[in-house]
Amino acid sequence: MQTFDPVLLEQWDRQYVWHPFTQMQQYVQEKPLIIARGEGSYLIDVEGNRYLDGVSSLWVTVHGHCHPALNRAIKEQLDLIAHSTLLGLANVPSILLAKKLVEITPSGLNKVFYSDAGATAVEIALKMAFQYWQQKEGGRHHSKTKFISLAEAYHGDTIGSVSVGGMSLFHGIFRPLLFQCLHAPAPYCYRCPLELEKDGCGMACVDRLEELMGKHHGEVAALIIEPLVQGAAGMITAPAGYLRRVRELCTRYNILLIADEVAVGFGRTGRLFACEHEGVSPDLMCLAKGITGGYLPLAATLTTDEIYSAFLGKPEECRTFYHGHTYTGNPVACAAALASMELFEQEGLPGTLQPKIELLRRGLESFWQLPHVGDIRQRGMMVGIELVADRETKKSYPVQEQVGHRVILEARRRGLIIRPLGDVIVLMPILTMSEGELNNVLEITFESIAAVTGH
Ligand SMILES: *Cc1c(COP(=O)(O)O)cnc(C)c1O
Repeated sequence: MQTFDPVLLEQWDRQYVWHPFTQMQQYVQEKPLIIARGEGSYLIDVEGNRYLDGVSSLWVTVHGHCHPALNRAIKEQLDLIAHSTLLGLANVPSILLAKKLVEITPSGLNKVFYSDAGATAVEIALKMAFQYWQQKEGGRHHSKTKFISLAEAYHGDTIGSVSVGGMSLFHGIFRPLLFQCLHAPAPYCYRCPLELEKDGCGMACVDRLEELMGKHHGEVAALIIEPLVQGAAGMITAPAGYLRRVRELCTRYNILLIADEVAVGFGRTGRLFACEHEGVSPDLMCLAKGITGGYLPLAATLTTDEIYSAFLGKPEECRTFYHGHTYTGNPVACAAALASMELFEQEGLPGTLQPKIELLRRGLESFWQLPHVGDIRQRGMMVGIELVADRETKKSYPVQEQVGHRVILEARRRGLIIRPLGDVIVLMPILTMSEGELNNVLEITFESIAAVTGH
């Protein structure tokens, strides 16, 4: 393969590439880190430096980089065909993967609709839920057009998924473009929106949700939730039993439950899907990120026979789901996903994660020694460490101090790639990382926080 002078690449990166979620004015002043290769738990840059991938390349990598079985599956599929359309045609890997997904997801999810990003998987779920109520029982429920979502939610960056989002930093500017949405309080126990203490609150936030449903259920199509962990909000972990109660309320008030498992799916929480922890079957489920083991863009929206059947009819009845993306069901991406599912079985994932989850838990306890650690949240292999200016008052650092950003730059110097969410330091290790590698991730993160915030 042709190699390029790293200095030229840096120059061209600054000159030509606009990076996502990035203030480019700041970015172009820092030395860009340009990745050339991956190997297991490591990313290797164009100068040959090795870094542990502490956030699974933005929450996607499952079995490690450059995995021989995944590489092989993709190459084999390439020699057959790279792409054919799913509009009116079928292809082999998309069929096999749909069958597999139906088998491994919570019961009742029997139909698979493909797309290529988490945001599109959500967009599809919202449109399906909306159209379902328009068409069910001759439109008797046509007033059910709204959505309930949680404060602080993140469901992707298309206009529909931003509409059900709740992060004012990301979403505020687009407000005039968005459809209206009903917001329930987030189960953010560290900064409880109802100003209650976690022990003894009786999950009052769910009572608020019930009030909202009681008042509005006649106009609500669906509730969308990130089960167990609100990821992009800063790894906000819901208390045990929360999801179960949300499911019960949705059933009681005839509101569809959309589980956005884009981040939490495929083993991250210690189970294959987060819904399993509380025995919940959603009406719609969104999958992306880890679905291909972190190899290729692919997403799926799964739903029930009940919802699917509301779209059936003669062509002239116009009950069709008029939605699709050009690369829907791409055979190479589906082949990668199938190979990833096989690896889950071969490696005994996620069942074998428990010792690693425990290692993280124990390792994180020592972080309380650092005076600016305000909260440590962990669910399985997902970790958020919230840094605060004052632990007593939970006062945040001023934005301009860029504490989170400075911590990850320190980590980078020490050979670890992580990415913060504001001042929440996120760890999302690759599921196959060794215990030694996990200890390194913890050690470097500890040192980096200490270096920036003082002991
Ligand atoms: C990342 C994420 C999305 C968006 O996925 P993209 O592939 O970036 O569009 C949606 N929902 C959740 C919960 C996510 O974490």
